[in-house]
Amino acid sequence: MILRFQFDSPRGQTLQSRELVSWARNLNFDKEDYTVSTSILPELQEAPVRGEAVRYVYSFGGGKADGNGKMKDELGGKGAGLAEMTNAGLPVPPGFTIQTEACREYMHHGGVSKEVDRQMEQALADLEKLQGQKLGIGENPLLVSVRSGAKFSMPGMMDTILNLGLNDQSVEALARRSNNPRFAYDSYRRLIQMFGNVVLEIPKSAFDEVFEAKKKQKKARLDTDLDAKALKEVIAEYKKVVKKHARRDFPQDPQEQLVMARDAVFRSWQNDRAKHYRRINNISDDLGTAVNVQAMVFGNLGDTSGTGVGFTRNPAIGAKEFYGEFLMNAQGEDVVAGIRTPVPISELEKIMPDVYRQLREITTRLEKHYRDMQDFEFTIQDGKLYMLQTRNGKRTGLAAVRVATQMVEEGLITKEEAIFRVEPNQLYDFLVPRLDEKGAKVEVLATGLPASPGAAVGQIVFTADEAVEKAGHGHPRKPVILIRAETTPEDIHGMEVAAGILTSRGGMTSHAAVVTRGMGKCCVAGAGDIEVNEKTREMRVKNQIFKAGDWISLDGTTGRVIKGRLNTIDARPDEPELMQFMAWAEPFRQLKVRANADIPRDAKQARAFGAEGIGLCRTEHMFFAEDRIPHMRAMILADNEQDRRAALKKLLPMQRADFVGLFRAMDGLPVTIRLLDPPLHEFLPKREDLMVEIAVLENSKKRSPKLKQLQTLLRRVEELHEFNPMLGHRGCRLGITYPEITEMQARAIFEAAVAVAKEGVKPVVEVMIPLTATLKEMANQGGIVRRVAGEVFKEKGAKVDYLVGTMIELPRAALVADEIAKDAEFFSFGTNDLTQTTFGFSRDDVNKILPTYLSEGILKQDPFAVLDRDGVGQLVRMGTERGRSTRTGLKVGICGEHGGDPSSVEFCHQVGMNYVSCSPFRVLTARLAAAQAGASDRLKVEGGRTK
Ligand code: PEP
Ligand code: MG
Repeated sequence: MILRFQFDSPRGQTLQSRELVSWARNLNFDKEDYTVSTSILPELQEAPVRGEAVRYVYSFGGGKADGNGKMKDELGGKGAGLAEMTNAGLPVPPGFTIQTEACREYMHHGGVSKEVDRQMEQALADLEKLQGQKLGIGENPLLVSVRSGAKFSMPGMMDTILNLGLNDQSVEALARRSNNPRFAYDSYRRLIQMFGNVVLEIPKSAFDEVFEAKKKQKKARLDTDLDAKALKEVIAEYKKVVKKHARRDFPQDPQEQLVMARDAVFRSWQNDRAKHYRRINNISDDLGTAVNVQAMVFGNLGDTSGTGVGFTRNPAIGAKEFYGEFLMNAQGEDVVAGIRTPVPISELEKIMPDVYRQLREITTRLEKHYRDMQDFEFTIQDGKLYMLQTRNGKRTGLAAVRVATQMVEEGLITKEEAIFRVEPNQLYDFLVPRLDEKGAKVEVLATGLPASPGAAVGQIVFTADEAVEKAGHGHPRKPVILIRAETTPEDIHGMEVAAGILTSRGGMTSHAAVVTRGMGKCCVAGAGDIEVNEKTREMRVKNQIFKAGDWISLDGTTGRVIKGRLNTIDARPDEPELMQFMAWAEPFRQLKVRANADIPRDAKQARAFGAEGIGLCRTEHMFFAEDRIPHMRAMILADNEQDRRAALKKLLPMQRADFVGLFRAMDGLPVTIRLLDPPLHEFLPKREDLMVEIAVLENSKKRSPKLKQLQTLLRRVEELHEFNPMLGHRGCRLGITYPEITEMQARAIFEAAVAVAKEGVKPVVEVMIPLTATLKEMANQGGIVRRVAGEVFKEKGAKVDYLVGTMIELPRAALVADEIAKDAEFFSFGTNDLTQTTFGFSRDDVNKILPTYLSEGILKQDPFAVLDRDGVGQLVRMGTERGRSTRTGLKVGICGEHGGDPSSVEFCHQVGMNYVSCSPFRVLTARLAAAQAGASDRLKVEGGRTK
């Protein structure tokens, strides 16, 4: 066994690994037995005030609470909800919340102040008084749960401990009081397991092994088949596990249990899962979590007890229906962890009609009160209903739009509020593909729950790591389907990169279902007919065996698991609710939204999604086609202008045809065509491949005529070879050194424009010069384009309007934008290259360092995905202002990847750009992000988005 010491060191107080190693050595561990690592805790905004002035602990219970629902910053979402529900007179088990400030102090100082302990002791004493019980003492011991709860919900990312207060004495008291020894011992063994794992950091597997062995020994099929005696034996063995791994006994003192559990929950804010979740959901590391300590109620006291979770509306499709699942005689984790497949909540009406009615009445009230769909947890103890939690429920994009539009119709929220009820990225759901079943052989292997809509087709993998290996950042993007018996928060990195998720256990509220819905990713959950063996990496179903690498198709809308590789078809984004929703949002939008598209098919698709033009047509993509590359190569290989012009002449009609297609598709809307940008050698074969081919031919007996050709090609490839092609012979530098390329492209553009204009199509032409850094570069290329335009118009006896502008992709261009704007009639920020050249990160190689930068907190987000406002953003702002200082009203847009990222779109709005341009599938997202940015300004709300 290898021990892992992980130290959270406050910033500025770096713990030296050497010191840690000597510390470990002092404890007499052998060098082979441990590893030491440190993680640096986030810096606090300002030093916290420690002392009596701060209220750290807020009680709730007996019909009143110290806090309220607005105090999410202090109490976290869960704590604020508990306070609010208590104040509203709902049946909530009493308790107290230790506020987030204590967590921030813990991170900063490595512990809490005495004042936190004092206030917690006081709150515990009050709770004991209210309940008439003592924590873990006496014939009727008080037991509590200790749960995390941050401002923004982070399902399953942090830790929870239940049944705290049980020890060797109180377990006996509980057994007597409940008259159910099995229940008491089961609760105690769960505590030791959770405490051991969360607080003492003992691997879960150490406990699982003991439990499984006991089941085997007793020939028990289900966990519930183990009787009180067997569970007592499990407890004895669990204690040994604790002693062996933690080198201490399981603490018998309930107060000590509470302090240790509280601190462990604070620490769980810093675990890898939580950090990862915050990163992908853009939640600040500085917030910290609150800790909720609450009197336990038990759903596993027998047949009149149970526990469940639910939503006030359907979170997958948004239908107005009471929705959820429960299990009788179970504890909360059994429902969410997907260990037993739960029963639909409608069944509760048959089993306990009064409780069902009360639950419906309470949750309807809660939804009205919060004016949003609620996600709630409840427990029934001996026939009495308790509400454990309520919060705004996570939902798919489809559901988000439906719920928002329904709530406006119901008069619950205003249209303006509705705009912020949908995250722009969620609109992707309306564009998710469906399986194309026409003419295909569809063999349904199993049907599970339709946990998250859409379709996914991919090769199967059985672990999150394997998913990342095949489809993760920096790896070739192969679509994979991650198959697990059930997912846990540890799988989050694999779920993020997989095309779809399939689980054999768990319900609509299982981890897999909740997380994938949030991600807008296809998921089929609880497909009970499949048998997943993660060890042998096999899935068995219908007497067939599927291994890693086999293809399957998932339909997340119906829950079907289909054998093989089906095609998918695009969604149609013309759902009436979506149209209605966008009609409310769009009037607030000031930014135009265009698409990056190179071929007519993509242009048409983008227009269907609402694109208002093309912001970037990368003409080089048109040259990579199979029938064009030989002509392109001939052009590159030419060693004199005449030959080059001859090759370009062959390319001209092809380019012209491309532009005709684009102008037609975008009739009346602007089309920005960028002149050739990439280094020429990208069109030639790889040097190493050529060398191999030549060597083979040289060694063959018969001299091949091809040899000479290849040798010439190799010579040219070597001539064109650059050490740093991204900073090399590319962009406008190409057109400046080979003006005939610019001439040919300009001719193709204007001939196409004149031709379509004759058909009655209105071409709106914008010619864009890439990668300029100086006015003279711009003037050189702009001059050629304008000259050729004049020539074409004269030859054809017709004219079209056009603009010549430039991309701003280099820091120098942003700095001298006032100069460049003397010649450029529009700017488009190429933030991919601008990020590359501002950070000095290679776009193509950054993934080697990015994961470390993100996990170390050096960068909060991938700057190639989310615009770095502090650095690159300053250049964007400066470039816009300077450009407009010489050319009033200069049209400014963005066409880097950031043009489809909601936060970057918001920034573009703030900078005063005219438009953003993004890939067709992000157009809808960009439209909503731009509308929200406009609405925030006009309605003076601060990004009123629901998280
Ligand atoms: C950019 O650099 O942002 C850009 C859009 O150009 P490309 O990605 O083609 O380099
Ligand atoms: Mg670029």
